[in-house]
Amino acid sequence: MSPNRFYPLSVYFQRCFGQRIRKIPLDAGSSCPNRDGTLSRSGCTFCNQMGSGTGLARTGMSLSRQYLAGRQRFVGRAENTRFLGYIQSFSNTHGPAARLRELLREFDGLPDLAGLAIGTRPDCLDEEKLKILQTAPFEEIWLDLGLQSAHDRTLELIHRGHDAACFATWVNKAAERGIKVCAHVITGLPGENLADFEQTIAFVNSLPVAGIKIHNLYVCLDTALEHAWRSGTLELLSREESLAWLVRAITLLRPEIVIQRMNSDPGTDELVAPKWALEKAGFINAVKQNLLEADSWQGKALGLPLPAWFNLQGRQHS
Ligand code: SF4
Repeated sequence: MSPNRFYPLSVYFQRCFGQRIRKIPLDAGSSCPNRDGTLSRSGCTFCNQMGSGTGLARTGMSLSRQYLAGRQRFVGRAENTRFLGYIQSFSNTHGPAARLRELLREFDGLPDLAGLAIGTRPDCLDEEKLKILQTAPFEEIWLDLGLQSAHDRTLELIHRGHDAACFATWVNKAAERGIKVCAHVITGLPGENLADFEQTIAFVNSLPVAGIKIHNLYVCLDTALEHAWRSGTLELLSREESLAWLVRAITLLRPEIVIQRMNSDPGTDELVAPKWALEKAGFINAVKQNLLEADSWQGKALGLPLPAWFNLQGRQHS
């Protein structure tokens, strides 16, 4: 298999930990200021009531039990592997700092835990919360922070409830404390063209961001986007357009930014459109093939040579 021409999470983990690290998705039963009435009750236009989560908190399962159950699936199957707990659903630093402290305590002493990734919004952070994260006893802490677009007009259109400057402020403050930030962005947002998305990538490049997740816009059941799509006022990118935007974004991205995700992961029961969004592995393979055939790589459009991680991949898979 040819080495990846982008910096995948598997290679990052191998470089940092010298072993395989797997993520375990967790649900802390958090809320979101864009849903609980703090900012609004409607949420971002693409988000449904699940907030991209597993819903496990509603079963009463604690974070530590969720982690142990996730780890159990690999016991005996994955040698030399540790885990990163990913607290994914909704905005997990929303609410008082004491809640965050309590959440982190649930991970005390859990076996094979390398660290945590915590999904949240930039406007749900403050200095006290960053200090809690900075001093937490984990080898690695990531903040998964939603940006979606660098354009405030788009953020208004999708009802984010914060602007790009807010994202920049809290990325800088997190990085000052050594907390890694993974920026979430979306291709094909309403009203955006490729040049707009390139500017979003340039914005991410300009900040001390350590990772990125690039999602393709899809329409989920029971969202404002579903209404727009059914009424014919929303246009979605085709698979080919989405692929072209993604490949262009990769070539424009700083090579040391770890690409943690290159497409969305909709469930079959929630996806309204486009149907091609379900072909996840095929889409990623097409990205790899496209970069290979064009002899291109992450950062090439910035005039940068093939990065060091390219030759370190060995038999890694993304
Ligand atoms: S901030 Fe996240 S959880 Fe909240 S409404 Fe938007 S996408 Fe959903």
